[in-house]
Amino acid sequence: MSEVIIAKCGLSCTDCGAYQATIADDDELRKMTAEEWSKMYGGSIAPESINCLGCQEKDETKVFGHCTVCGIRTCAKEKGYTTCADCPDFGCDKVAELWKHASFAKTNLEALRA
Ligand code: SF4
Ligand code: SF4
Repeated sequence: MSEVIIAKCGLSCTDCGAYQATIADDDELRKMTAEEWSKMYGGSIAPESINCLGCQEKDETKVFGHCTVCGIRTCAKEKGYTTCADCPDFGCDKVAELWKHASFAKTNLEALRA
């Protein structure tokens, strides 16, 4: 896969199970991703909901539901930034909280800022 999609928060959408399952239209991967996320986030995520073309997709109906209501994504979108790397408040409390659990997201955005 040559194209790399970096989410506004720095996560790599191209490495995400939802993105990969959508691109390949792979129902087995949808099921595995739904099970993994249900365990991780303590809910019940339906395999049918695992559809996403990534954080930068303009059509909101093609973005995974949780990501359409993500506070970081909404904030960056409202400010017109492709990613938080463009923001003068880079490293704000919202992204810092995420980065505690996903330091590679911070690394991805630092690379964009370099
Ligand atoms: S926007 Fe989509 S591809 Fe990116 S992290 Fe969220 S669910 Fe995964
Ligand atoms: S304020 Fe924080 S969440 Fe909003 S665009 Fe800037 S860095 Fe991203």
